[in-house]
Amino acid sequence: MAKSKFEYVRDFEADDTCLAHCWVVVRLDGRNFHRFAEKHNFTKPNDSRALHLMTKCAQTVMEELEDIVIAYGQSDEYSFVFKRKSNWFKRRARPCHGVELISCIFSFLAPPIVPFASFDGRVVVYPSNQTLKDYLSWRQADCHINNLYNTVFWALVQQSGLTPIQAQERLQGTLTADKNEILFSEFNINYNNEPPMYRKGTVLIWQKVDEVTTKEVRLPAEMEGRKMLVTRTRTKAVPLHCDVIGDAFWKEHPEILH
Ligand code: ATP
Ligand code: ATP
Ligand code: MG
Ligand code: MG
Ligand code: MG
Ligand code: MG
Ligand code: MG
Repeated sequence: MAKSKFEYVRDFEADDTCLAHCWVVVRLDGRNFHRFAEKHNFTKPNDSRALHLMTKCAQTVMEELEDIVIAYGQSDEYSFVFKRKSNWFKRRARPCHGVELISCIFSFLAPPIVPFASFDGRVVVYPSNQTLKDYLSWRQADCHINNLYNTVFWALVQQSGLTPIQAQERLQGTLTADKNEILFSEFNINYNNEPPMYRKGTVLIWQKVDEVTTKEVRLPAEMEGRKMLVTRTRTKAVPLHCDVIGDAFWKEHPEILH
């Protein structure tokens, strides 16, 4: 077919193909959620409804889209890892490894709790299993650091009556051990006993799950209308709140990076 003389403008579309055989990670992060959380009265430091909603959205994303092998979420962000051989959207980053699509799913599902949530998205390519593991470790370390800080900060504000500025000043320059100590000695909180979902974030991986459903079945006349329990095995995106830093997780689930 003849090309129009205008065809040349196509060349202005930069090549944004994600390097073949690399892990492609899409990370969404809530836009201006600091403000958003205030506006919608999120429970501080952790609003579990919002976290569960994020995970529900992420599970939908995994079930609707192809090729995601693992996802990790914490706070207002979720990362989705596409398998190395994924050819989704022809590996094009901008249109955009489905960033808009994933972002849309989140914005669409979020309204019951958080109306008008919007997310920014970016695509990053990791060339090796080690860099991918380090990426996920980085996000989980971020979860840990932020959550420890926020847990102490909000205890000082909510329980000791400090103003946010006073709490911030109190925490300036403190190390992990200092924060643990404040929590323990002033609030009788052992940080390690805080909910794992808050401390570790949420890992979504594919696992076989037995689903029990009731089913009307055709039975001999005398038993007509009986319902039967049927167990079906399905592969689902299951949430875990475990460590991804360190080797144990990867040894336990070698199929993820296969
Ligand atoms: P968190 O929510 O845990 O803070 P985040 O990924 O949102 O994670 P930011 O603090 O927003 O982290 O930004 C981290 C780094 O990424 C910063 O150096 C920032 O300049 C850069 N960055 C932020 N937004 C974008 C974007 N849309 N595209 C590329 N880089 C960005
Ligand atoms: P940006 O648009 O640059 O991402 P942001 O305000 O969203 O800005 P983040 O670094 O992403 O900044 O931080 C997200 C903020 O949203 C956290 O600081 C926290 O105050 C709030 N937040 C997110 N999720 C929750 C939650 N489940 N419970 C309570 N607060 C939350
Ligand atoms: Mg951000
Ligand atoms: Mg944000
Ligand atoms: Mg964030
Ligand atoms: Mg087109
Ligand atoms: Mg940040």
